[in-house]
Amino acid sequence: MSDLSPFPRYDTSYTKLPERFFAQVAPYGASEPRLVRLNEGLAEVLGFDVTALSEADAAQVFSGNQLADGSQPIAMAYAGHQFGGFNPGLGDGRALLLGEVIGKDGKRYDIQLKGSGQTPFSRQGDGRAALGPVLREYVVSEAMAALGVPTTRALAAVTTGDPVLRERVLPGAMVTRVASSHLRVGTFEYAAFLGDTDKLTSLTDYALERHDPGRRDEERPALALLQGVIERQASLIARWMGLGFIHGVMNTDNCTISGETIDYGPCAFMDGYNPAQVYSSIDHQGRYAFANQPPIAHWNMAVLAQALLPLIDPDEEEAVRLAQSTVDTFPGHFQRAYLAVMRAKLGLVSEDAGDADLVKDLLSLMAENEADFTGTFRALTDAPLQDAAVLKHLAPDGTDWLERWKARLGQEKTTAEQRRSAMRTVNPSIIPRNHRIEAMITSALDGDFAPFHAIADALASPYEDAPDDGEGAQLALPPAPEDVVHATFCGT
Ligand code: AMP
Ligand code: MG
Repeated sequence: MSDLSPFPRYDTSYTKLPERFFAQVAPYGASEPRLVRLNEGLAEVLGFDVTALSEADAAQVFSGNQLADGSQPIAMAYAGHQFGGFNPGLGDGRALLLGEVIGKDGKRYDIQLKGSGQTPFSRQGDGRAALGPVLREYVVSEAMAALGVPTTRALAAVTTGDPVLRERVLPGAMVTRVASSHLRVGTFEYAAFLGDTDKLTSLTDYALERHDPGRRDEERPALALLQGVIERQASLIARWMGLGFIHGVMNTDNCTISGETIDYGPCAFMDGYNPAQVYSSIDHQGRYAFANQPPIAHWNMAVLAQALLPLIDPDEEEAVRLAQSTVDTFPGHFQRAYLAVMRAKLGLVSEDAGDADLVKDLLSLMAENEADFTGTFRALTDAPLQDAAVLKHLAPDGTDWLERWKARLGQEKTTAEQRRSAMRTVNPSIIPRNHRIEAMITSALDGDFAPFHAIADALASPYEDAPDDGEGAQLALPPAPEDVVHATFCGT
């Protein structure tokens, strides 16, 4: 029997929603669970007694073999638009919400086990997760958190000892995911599909309580919630665009109400800049290409608005009018957030009418040169002292742009040193590069987890200067031509 005392007591608020929103499911567990990594910093925030927690007990709980006190595992029901087509019956097919905890910061967090076995929503799937996607989610979601981007977190990774069958037999694994909630646009589509206004109201009240308590008392709470989600998503996508991050599968079931990045499947950080870049092997039309992310998020907000219509106004025409005018605020919110992100990346504090063009022209130059996205901005932090480093990325046409940028910097009141240190907080030196993640997964499949730990350790401080050697050094550099990763895959 495991010692469960180092685990905080789990709570459940989601189960107070009507029963149609979830199914109670016991996790399958694992035949030989082994802890690969525990995120101690996050565990502390969540109220785990990390010093008293043994590896063996952690493996038991983070594989679902043992349930922490208060845990009531459920699979959440949701619907969603996948690549533009509506699917009313999605839901947690390979994940279970184990419960919620109130962290030391006073916030409520969902604790979810991913790869925990079949549920009533598994359809054809086995409910399992393979080791590669689990390690990828751990590394990339934690890197996003360290980069300061709203995201779900990874609390633990375990191997299960049970094989899973994909194109070949692979080791099974589970990741424990932490989120400020798992409410998605697709959860609202599901509630709307049920055609029962009371259930939609319960869900809306619940979402407001968790994510927008300040908007609960507004005259039209559903419209207020929509506005809140729009603002959070606009700001989230702006953060992605400032880091060269491509989510890869922005279906409405992967679009959160909290504004956190969720579902690290075929996602990738770009190396060479190409606005049309797609990595996901199933995104044949390029629907979720890098530059399409803002209009797709806007589209997802229209889907949320549609689901909320019955609550916005009893008069349908009026409801549509109000919803539309709210959805129409997305592009403005995005543009403002995006310009703020990009100004900061260029070391600009003040606002000038020409800034949008300055950004656009830099990106055009980068696209022409397939300049390394992360490397170029990091080199700019050290310019103009070291223009050569920038010109290496933008040559031969970069000189004019550099002169324009310097002239623009001349309008700023900040000193060169202030600008440089500010730029270093927004332009990372390292990102989870695809080719390093692939290499890490290959090693882990051979039983060597050292590269996984090295990547996770390095990415804990992505804004520090990259070290001269080791994994951190590798993560700063674009891949050699033979190492370029061209396609990424969903975790299924
Ligand atoms: P995703 O594309 O990962 O967001 O998953 C889309 C849907 O497929 C969700 O309903 C998942 O629960 C379900 N799903 C993905 N992988 C599996 C699996 N291995 N077994 C069962 N359901 C799955
Ligand atoms: Mg998903």
